[in-house]
Amino acid sequence: MSDCLFCKIIAGEIPSTKIYDDEYVYAFADIDPQAPFHAVIVPKTHITSAAEINSDNSIYIAKIFEAVAKIAENEKLEKGFRVVNNCGEDGGQTVGHLHFHLLARRYLQWPPG
Ligand code: 5GP
Ligand code: ZN
Repeated sequence: MSDCLFCKIIAGEIPSTKIYDDEYVYAFADIDPQAPFHAVIVPKTHITSAAEINSDNSIYIAKIFEAVAKIAENEKLEKGFRVVNNCGEDGGQTVGHLHFHLLARRYLQWPPG
C-alpha cells in the first residue's frame, strides 16, 4: 500500500532501527518506546488489522510469533515480555497496518489501562 507508514518502513523508504528481519516478518524499534525494550513486529504484506486475519493470510501470524520467540532469545528477555495488538479505534490502533508490540525489561502492570 503506497500510503501506508509501515509498508514504507518495510520497503526502507522511511528509516527504522532493525531488530529482526526474515521472509515474512520485519521488527523495528518503536519511535516512542513504552518500555526499555519496545519492538514493533509487522507482516511483510499489508494487512490492515487483526480483524482482517483469515485462512489466506494467517501464516503471517504464525511467523510473527516464531519471530517473537527468536527476538526474546536474541535479546535475552528471560524475565518475560508482553505481546500486544491494538485493533481499531477503541483498541487504540493508530497505524493501519497489522502490528504487534513486544514490550520488555520492566515489570508490566496487569490489567493495562
Ligand atoms: P498502535 O498505536 O497503532 O498500536 O502502534 C503504532 C506504533 O507505531 C506506536 O507505538 C508508535 O510509537 C509507532 N510509530 C509510529 N510512527 C512510527 C515511525 O515512523 N517509526 C517507528 N519506529 N515507530 C513509529
Ligand atoms: Zn501497510
